[in-house]
Amino acid sequence: MTQIAEPPAGTAQTERKRVNHWIDGARVAGTSSRRGPVYNPATGELAREVDFASAQEVDAAVAAARSAFPAWRATSLSRRTEILFRFRNLVEQHREEIAAHLTREHGKVRTDALGEVQRGLENVEFATGIPSLLKGGFSEQVSSGVDVYQIRQPLGVVAGITPFNFPAMVPMWMFANAIACGNAFVLKPSEKDPSASVYLAELWQEAGLPNGVFNVVHGDKVAVDRILEHPDIAAVSFVGSTPIARHIYETGTKHGKRVQALGGAKNHMVVLPDADIDMAADAAVSAAYGSAGERCMAISVVVAVGDVADPLVEAIEGRLPKIKVGPGSEEGVEMGPLITREHRDKVVSYLDSGTKQGAVLRVDGRQHVLYSQEDGGFFLGVSLLDNVTPEMECYRNEIFGPVLEIVRVPTYADAARVIDENPYANGTAIFTRDGGAARQFQFDVNVGMVGINVPIPVPVAYYSFGGWKASLFGDLHMYGPEGIQFYTRAKIVTARWPDPSTSKVDLGFPQTR
Ligand code: NAD
Repeated sequence: MTQIAEPPAGTAQTERKRVNHWIDGARVAGTSSRRGPVYNPATGELAREVDFASAQEVDAAVAAARSAFPAWRATSLSRRTEILFRFRNLVEQHREEIAAHLTREHGKVRTDALGEVQRGLENVEFATGIPSLLKGGFSEQVSSGVDVYQIRQPLGVVAGITPFNFPAMVPMWMFANAIACGNAFVLKPSEKDPSASVYLAELWQEAGLPNGVFNVVHGDKVAVDRILEHPDIAAVSFVGSTPIARHIYETGTKHGKRVQALGGAKNHMVVLPDADIDMAADAAVSAAYGSAGERCMAISVVVAVGDVADPLVEAIEGRLPKIKVGPGSEEGVEMGPLITREHRDKVVSYLDSGTKQGAVLRVDGRQHVLYSQEDGGFFLGVSLLDNVTPEMECYRNEIFGPVLEIVRVPTYADAARVIDENPYANGTAIFTRDGGAARQFQFDVNVGMVGINVPIPVPVAYYSFGGWKASLFGDLHMYGPEGIQFYTRAKIVTARWPDPSTSKVDLGFPQTR
């Protein structure tokens, strides 16, 4: 195993302000001078720094995982289940601390952060069922005295690369199943909010997971590229933006790895003329502005069909002044800041380009008092862009901020075409009282996750999560049954037990009759 120096001696203060890697069951300080800033988005302060791994540091984490793998793979299913249960209980017990990390570094409000932990926990709970999930099939007497059965075996060392917007849940989507299946895991979390991942690593250790089965390396493209080409990594799970997802898929598969790479989104919510306007407006506002719109399943476009548009837009607009924006740690606040100042400015640029190209800015988030604070947090109020058309820049790009766009169309067929022509296909929703229309939508739409009067249709942990088109590269969706498939490979055994009374030489091709 590649050796890494111990953390340099420093004051407790210095140590706290540095986020280190977690390799082979211990915090390991980065040896390269490369580090990244971790801000408190609610204040704009540089809160700590995170070590950026060099290729050698990634190698060390992979080597630790590789040496832990054989024993972990051979660990009985009941012992693995026991550790998973303990981890599950520890996450539940420490949900407030995990949520506090999320609020501090991501900015999301406490209730939202607790919701993230809960949805991640569901994936751990699913993985505790690993003895049943790994059951294979068995066919008796496929030929005379011959049985066939399938077993699923772990891949070895697998890696996860995760985005900033769910620093606890998305890693749990991946590592719970991967580890339950008997793999060793290397996580490269987002460098923007890295602390939760190391906290989770400590909980794994407390749960009794052997050292080296779960490792965390922080960093940027240098770490990611080493993961993609490392010969000892069998599979890579990625969640992030579409251009990076495409790069991960192309590079990882070129290096012989199994890859699932989930990308960006532009999620449309179709509202038909018969929909309950208040219910649709509540859903649109909640799904568009929750977590400041930094959710891959956020509703970013409402497609208003026919004469529902005017009353719906009025109902949405009427709800916006009541949304309380502020620091995520403050009681009663509903929407926190954006992740960085650069990201906020990029979001704002779409308000400008949208209005230049003919959209109507009904509510401008820049009017919020927290936006104009020089040197303050990365706040932006909620924005509502009406009369958006598919040619506009603000429509063609994923904004990933608290901006809801309204596209007005005359018919259901036009709504369906707008969605179909969009390159993203993560989630979508339809709001209607008409069961036939909803069923037709579900049948027609080329999108991976569909909500019927449900604006954020994130599948529960015992289904799998994934979009279509430019929202997912690879064959298998994440977590749930497809996650188990992703982290294992099938082996088929054809067996005959010796029966000397029937043995003879036969050069014919084996037949089953
Ligand atoms: P991102 O693509 O910038 O980063 C994701 C990961 O890739 C991070 O770990 C980052 O360090 C790494 N990375 C960034 N640039 C890289 C490069 N050039 N080479 C190699 N690695 C690189 O995404 P983000 O800004 O952290 O997250 C937001 C994006 O994630 C949005 O597009 C959102 O839609 C998407 N997302 C998708 C899903 C989904 O399930 N489809 C879920 C959550 C977020």
